[in-house]
Amino acid sequence: MEATGVCSICGKAGILYPCSMCGARACRDCITLRGVCKPCMGGRTMTIDDFRNKGLDSK
Ligand SMILES: [Zn+2]
Ligand SMILES: [Zn+2]
Repeated sequence: MEATGVCSICGKAGILYPCSMCGARACRDCITLRGVCKPCMGGRTMTIDDFRNKGLDSK
């Protein structure tokens, strides 16, 4: 289930996803496709938004 609140990484309010590594609550800008927050992944992994944007850009 999704939960709303304030992102632990960037401080933005919205839907949050729990990091499977550190347990931080990250927004979709800060959670990666693997369910791990950007700080845990070193900040260089595609986010859910990046993935969706790539899909839309292919039109
Ligand atoms: Zn965030
Ligand atoms: Zn994390």
